[in-house]
Amino acid sequence: MTPEQLLSEADRCVKCGFCLPECPTYRVLANEADSPRGRISLMQALAKGELDPGARLETHLDRCLGCRACESACPSGVRYAALLDAGRALIAERRRGKPLLHWLLAQLTNPERLGRWSRVFHIFRRTGLPALANTVPSARLNRLFQLGRQLKQGASVKPGLYPATLPTSKQVRLFTGCVGHQTEPHLIQTSLTLLNKLGYAVEIPEAPICCGALHRHNGYSDEAERYCEANRRQTGKSRAQALITLASACHLELHEHRASRIPVINLIDFLLGLPLNEFPLLKPYTGRVAIHVPCSSQGDCSRELLQRIPLAEIVELADNSVCCGAAGSYMLSQPGLSITFGSAKIEHLKTCPADILVTGNTGCAMQFRQLIEEAGLKTRVMHPVELIHQQWNED
Ligand code: SF4
Ligand code: SF4
Repeated sequence: MTPEQLLSEADRCVKCGFCLPECPTYRVLANEADSPRGRISLMQALAKGELDPGARLETHLDRCLGCRACESACPSGVRYAALLDAGRALIAERRRGKPLLHWLLAQLTNPERLGRWSRVFHIFRRTGLPALANTVPSARLNRLFQLGRQLKQGASVKPGLYPATLPTSKQVRLFTGCVGHQTEPHLIQTSLTLLNKLGYAVEIPEAPICCGALHRHNGYSDEAERYCEANRRQTGKSRAQALITLASACHLELHEHRASRIPVINLIDFLLGLPLNEFPLLKPYTGRVAIHVPCSSQGDCSRELLQRIPLAEIVELADNSVCCGAAGSYMLSQPGLSITFGSAKIEHLKTCPADILVTGNTGCAMQFRQLIEEAGLKTRVMHPVELIHQQWNED
């Protein structure tokens, strides 16, 4: 989006304020500059050259979760998320700041590099030094160490073509993403096994490519575009009928930016689209399952899927329309606010205890795992698909 396009889109905002009560940061900070309307005004002033990019302006944009709750509430149909990406890109272009954030994104979005950091981190952990890191007066560093504990040791699923357990001409490709490789290898393995057992041959990419969402939402739209183009090239060579996504944020990015030459389908929707006679027979589960709906999961169908588990009590976490505070790199860049939003979710979980909490997004899963552990709760965090696989009755 050019500054002119930004201004034209922002002009659709009539400053009615209907979005304000829906905005989590406005509700917590009670500051117009931390509301959608306020941020749109700041971006307009920036694009017109009336305001220079500077720490104060950036702070208000940085505090935005990018959750899009304002978009759903807006009667004028303002495309706030696109405005925010454009505003941040304008700042990145004019200010060329945040080299540390840029470096961090480069580590997070490259599965090989992140794998190396994971090995280094686990060696470091064994020295006992992370306990000292907690005494460092940097909330960002502390959060990095807390979340780093979720990096798994050992390699994720190897690339290649995994044949179905039955002879078949059906083939899909799994979008394994970047961070999920190191934090949720179990989810990738489970999805692969599930699809193979359902009669699908599965391609695991040779060189997994990030979807570009983390870069785009931090103002590095050129790099995000390069990721999208690389994904288009990769999928253009694929013989699969569909690209199956596991994390809703990656799905949204690939879908909105047409970053695949083959249809992109979320695994939850894919399973729901199977003819009933092909859907696995499920064992009963006699516990309570709470559903968290990620902001990026538009029209989330987890409930529809999980209701197929006999006897399971499926409940939605209260305030599901409010962001959990994970919001991609927000967990690291705004640790205080991120924990405030996440802790509100944990309070809801305490009032309606569940054995399992399901969420269909990698970042949200990381946020919940850390805060649930810190709260001393026993709730397991799973992807809806992992629960379906767990309950598959193969007798
Ligand atoms: S609801 Fe839409 S038009 Fe109204 S202030 Fe918010 S963004 Fe602007
Ligand atoms: S994206 Fe979310 S946090 Fe940002 S302005 Fe909109 S409602 Fe507020």
